[in-house]
Amino acid sequence: PRLANQIAAGEVVERPSSVIKELLENSLDAGATRLDIDIEEGGIKLMRVRDNGSGIERDDLPLALSRHATSKIYELDDLEAVATLGFRGEALASISSVARLALITSTNDDASGWQAVAEGRDMETDVSPAPHPRGTTVEVRDLFFNTPARRKFMRTEKTEYNHLEEVVKRLALSRFDVAFNLRHNGRMVYAWRAGDSQLEQERRVAQVCGPAFMENAVHIDIERNGMRLWGWVALPTFSRSQADLQHFYVNGRSIRDKLVGHAVRQAFQDVLFNGRHPAFVLYFELDPSTVDVNVHPTKHEVRFRDNRNVHDFIYSSLHHALARVTP
Ligand code: ADP
Ligand code: MG
Repeated sequence: PRLANQIAAGEVVERPSSVIKELLENSLDAGATRLDIDIEEGGIKLMRVRDNGSGIERDDLPLALSRHATSKIYELDDLEAVATLGFRGEALASISSVARLALITSTNDDASGWQAVAEGRDMETDVSPAPHPRGTTVEVRDLFFNTPARRKFMRTEKTEYNHLEEVVKRLALSRFDVAFNLRHNGRMVYAWRAGDSQLEQERRVAQVCGPAFMENAVHIDIERNGMRLWGWVALPTFSRSQADLQHFYVNGRSIRDKLVGHAVRQAFQDVLFNGRHPAFVLYFELDPSTVDVNVHPTKHEVRFRDNRNVHDFIYSSLHHALARVTP
């Protein structure tokens, strides 16, 4: 059902960066420890993600590439229903409905593998043998080639590339144990090695956020009542005009949340001074059963069971840490 896929694609595939997010998350789900990302023309022309994850079995390919949950939607009347369904298990189907998608995969290292290709349609059919080491390469070309209305909404190559790089950076800060290589128009932009020690983590934060951030940041790590807040916060000596250096992860997932944002801002304001944007890379960990990070699959919302407790902990942890290092 191509129409259903295109409708869903409107939700999950907004621009190149949303495609990259889905592809990288799939690779990480597959246990990849190395991601090679190739971009051409801001992702509008080409996005290719190669991973060394589990690969996909030949017999599982049709399922992986088809829509499982919403194949019943054929008519525009059902448009409203789409909004409430969520879009899990539909990313590849959605992407292949609005782009030329090719997937090569192998579950073993004997150089045998399988390729499937689709151009704006369901792709269960053409599966052919193709060599590939263990892992998967997904290639997405000509995004929105068959949906001109949507293509118009894409911005310049530069703008789309910046959004895409933001997504890669956000993920790179959530998985220090995974190597990321990013190329744009044939040029290597980033090559981030994997490593989980504090030194290696700080190397990556410096690579992703810039050396000036790391040079002016303090490391914090506070644990109380089953909650832990750790990471790096920049001191007032770090000056930066943009407000984009704010990374907050809840149980490993990047989120943007009002409650969290308020607690963080308040702590910075109370210890330091008003009128500047705090910069931070923070990881908040708590009992997964007390938080719902799947409120919306494409947004970064989160719902805590105990708002007040969470707010208090984040505020007081940061307040304490900042007060300790600020004259
Ligand atoms: P979801 O990730 O929500 O299951 P997707 O459409 O993104 O839905 O992917 C469909 C399925 O294809 C996944 O569940 C997974 O089994 C398989 N898959 C996709 N990408 C990869 C990958 N890079 N490595 C291994 N399996 C993959
Ligand atoms: Mg997925």
